Amino acid sequence: MLKEIKRTGLGVAKTAGVFLFVQRSGWRRSRLLILGYHGIAIDDEHQWNPPLFMRQEFFRERLRLIRKSGCTVVTLDEGIRRLFTGDLPPKSVALTFDDGSYDFYEQAYPVLKEFDVPVTLYLTTFYSYYNRPVFRPTVSYLLWKGRTATLNLKPLTGDDVQLNLQNSAEREKAFQQLVDFAINNKFSAEEKDALNVNLANELHVDYDALLKKRILHIMTPDEVSRLAAEGVDIQLHTHRHRTPTVHELFTREIRDNRESIHSMTGSSPTHFCYPAGVYDDTFVPWLKEMGVESATTCDPDLATRSSHPYFLPRLIDNSNLSAVEFEGWLAGVSAVLPQRARG
Ligand SMILES: [Zn+2]
Repeated sequence: MLKEIKRTGLGVAKTAGVFLFVQRSGWRRSRLLILGYHGIAIDDEHQWNPPLFMRQEFFRERLRLIRKSGCTVVTLDEGIRRLFTGDLPPKSVALTFDDGSYDFYEQAYPVLKEFDVPVTLYLTTFYSYYNRPVFRPTVSYLLWKGRTATLNLKPLTGDDVQLNLQNSAEREKAFQQLVDFAINNKFSAEEKDALNVNLANELHVDYDALLKKRILHIMTPDEVSRLAAEGVDIQLHTHRHRTPTVHELFTREIRDNRESIHSMTGSSPTHFCYPAGVYDDTFVPWLKEMGVESATTCDPDLATRSSHPYFLPRLIDNSNLSAVEFEGWLAGVSAVLPQRARG
């Protein structure tokens, strides 16, 4: 209901010229909209996880809207620099993708090229080297693929627990038990992958097909090199997709990630994005010490000159956000709506 009111409100604002007014004002001019994306579906991932995955055509439509709206797409580096010097071009937008999954290479990059817009990729590097499906999302995806089945966890974890996967709460329970099992037993990446192979067998899901299509894989170092050579900006997202709250472990994540990216691209990244959007004041001195210039969150807002450079807000775009809401964000109107009314 709230979403409906909001949508109608935006529609009225659009007709009444509020969009035009806000976007031409100095208010929007002094702000940078950083957009965040995750995955563009290779197969059916958008049906499994709509907040994380969208169809390629949906993404293409977003780029059409950005073009139609007269936004200036800047590189993240230029956008952040000019945000703080106060000379942003009109209606500035920066595009970012998280993780660096293979679907970026296959599905997103060709569309970005079609529209000739710059993009920043926050790359997590562990699974770039160990090129198998990323453990946690794959557990969830397999359980969803096998959702017509009843799963007994006994052959997987030893627990004689029967779960009806058609029920999303039981599916979530199965997910949690499998992930906890791997954590409690300190599984290596190989052991986690073997657990997924067994899970796929239990559910009669074709794991080889998933490997062949490279669903939920990170790009290989070679693929990253190729994109970097074509001008894709590769930046930091930690090596193992985590932000430990212990100084030594946190800085190791940045260091391993940076060295890996440097070996793939030849350049040394200084912009950072918090995995899963988890941030904390504790990280500020550590990021400074590591020579990081900026860090983005998943808190939806436009960045202003008074934003903390280590807590830059970012709109995570997804298929549940309507076209008019998205246009509202480009214009800057959606950002002034009350927080709780934001999708
Ligand atoms: Zn991520």
